[in-house]
Amino acid sequence: MTLRGRLTTAFLVVVLGPVLLGSIFVALTVTTVSRDRTAERLDRAATTVRTGISAACRQLQAAADAVAVVPAGERPAVAGQLIARGLATDIELDGREPHDDWQSCATPADGPAATIAVESINGDATIRAAQSVDDAFLDHLSAASGARVTLTGADESGHLLRITPESGQPLPLTLTVPATRPSFLYAVLPAVVLAAGLAAVLVARWLARTTTRPLGELAWAADRVADGDLDTRVPILRPDELGRLGASFNRMTRELQAYVQALTASRDQLRGHLAILGETLSSTHDLQRILQVILRTALAATGARAGLVLLLDPAGGQLVAQCGVGLAGHWDVPDADLPKQRLPVGEGVLGGVAASGEPRRGQGEPATDEPPCLTYVAVPICAPVEAGDEPETLGVLALYDRVGGDAFDDADLRTLRTFAGQAGVAVHNVRLHEEAQRLSLTDPLTGLWNYRYLRESLRREVERASRFGRMLTVLVLDLDHFKDVNDTYGHAAGDAVLGEFARRIRVGLREVDVAFRQGGEEFVVLLPETDAYGGVIVAERLGAAVRDRPVPIDPLRPDGTRIPISVSIGVAVFPEHGDNAQRVLAAADTALYAAKSAGRDTYRLADSADVTNSRVSPSVHEGNFDPKTAVPTGPRPPGHRRGR
Ligand code: GH3
Ligand code: MG
Ligand code: MG
Repeated sequence: MTLRGRLTTAFLVVVLGPVLLGSIFVALTVTTVSRDRTAERLDRAATTVRTGISAACRQLQAAADAVAVVPAGERPAVAGQLIARGLATDIELDGREPHDDWQSCATPADGPAATIAVESINGDATIRAAQSVDDAFLDHLSAASGARVTLTGADESGHLLRITPESGQPLPLTLTVPATRPSFLYAVLPAVVLAAGLAAVLVARWLARTTTRPLGELAWAADRVADGDLDTRVPILRPDELGRLGASFNRMTRELQAYVQALTASRDQLRGHLAILGETLSSTHDLQRILQVILRTALAATGARAGLVLLLDPAGGQLVAQCGVGLAGHWDVPDADLPKQRLPVGEGVLGGVAASGEPRRGQGEPATDEPPCLTYVAVPICAPVEAGDEPETLGVLALYDRVGGDAFDDADLRTLRTFAGQAGVAVHNVRLHEEAQRLSLTDPLTGLWNYRYLRESLRREVERASRFGRMLTVLVLDLDHFKDVNDTYGHAAGDAVLGEFARRIRVGLREVDVAFRQGGEEFVVLLPETDAYGGVIVAERLGAAVRDRPVPIDPLRPDGTRIPISVSIGVAVFPEHGDNAQRVLAAADTALYAAKSAGRDTYRLADSADVTNSRVSPSVHEGNFDPKTAVPTGPRPPGHRRGR
């Protein structure tokens, strides 16, 4: 049964029930009162009829007595007068036997009675006076009593009261009053009840409809919302409870719509960030950029206002800030200084996460040196590990102050751990890539850059020197009689000599200088922003570093056999001795051969006069490794300055 049907039924039961009960009560009461009143009326009529008949009997007795007391001769005349005056309908004087159909007023007998009679005895004379019970007599009684009076047995209908013969009332009579006609209001009562019932049904239906219509609209709107139409609203017709319910529904739907829109926007934003993240991860090995994108994606996913990525400095046990978002104006560290920001491992929130490898989240200031915030969540960035291995912490990913002010919850922590996992994989991959690249560009025996990297570096340095109008000095070094070393001490010893030679080159150079193993026992050193004068000084220093300390065969036993070695060096300067990478290297090579030709263990500087022909055979300036004559014999180039 529908709600409308139930409401209609309830209303009818509540309203129509009492009306019907009241009507029945009124009908019963009216019927009872009517019956009582009819009975009373019949009783009164019976009393009147008895009194009337009794009076008629007394009148007959008076007439009979009046006839009996007069002399016998006068009796007929008196009787005639009395009949004429209507005191009796018949008076018998002869005392004959009583008639069967005469009922004696004094001793009535059963049986029909059309006449009532009395007798008076005077001596031997019995005088009987009779009154015929005819229609006129009965009409007279009816008129006096108010009820129709008939002899019992006649055609009777209506409310009856039978009077049996008794002394003083010898007649079997029936008193009839007509059935009481219902009063007008009594007749109208069913109609009123019917009309009230009809009205109640109509009102109940109207009430049920007006009550359930807003509910129906609400159910319809709820269905629409459930189907995804969040524009649905219900009309608010009245400010009653249903109106409030509708207003609440509209507000709920509005807020749901705003929430869904925000969620959709945030999902789209996150999708965009994830796309950028995927593209970044697959297209670059720029760690800073990757971390920046991961951080921005984590911010978008959690709704945090600010974030920070720090990586462990493998050397110093410190966290080094890599990139930050939204920290400007909060953290007292300018953006430009962010990469230099270092935090000690083991202290504060970030240091604690790095030390323990456990994530942390909370409220309030994390630590003095860390970004100020209301809420924070920080997770370790770990390198991907094989099953069962201890995770290695590479850094920390931290987010601060979620939009809306809520604290970060478990879901945020899980999300952030996902991004930290990606950051860990990215850092690991980038480091692997860097290592692979380093290995592909370095010489495994000496640890110096290899020939491949030499070509690239020389091209780059020449280009830079050319762009900024600076000089670049190229040294080409070749160990003297190295074949003999191999032959005398063995190939392994030769390898050790090469390694030691490379170490001495490294030690003798500035940070900006770069050393390469060109192949075999030939090496190249690039000295950016260095002129011939500076180059010669370096050549002399390297020559001396090799010559002065013979290399021990067994590095673990420095007091054992030592191998004396020397090196020849060719020096050329860009752009003085070669106007491109190839030419300047060739000029240095030519100078090297000149040094070899000059007896080895010396250097030669390419000749600037032959620059245009340097491709063929540049001349060289002679030089030696006398520390006291650190300045080459050739003229000092213009703009000369010392290399160190
Ligand atoms: P020069 O003074 O004219 O340069 O004489 P040299 O013997 O050094 O020159 P040469 O080119 O005749 O010999 C170079 C030797 O270097 C030949 C080779 O056996 C040796 N050599 C090249 N590469 C390696 C290496 O990786 N390890 C060892 N142990 N020896 C190497
Ligand atoms: Mg050699
Ligand atoms: Mg050689």
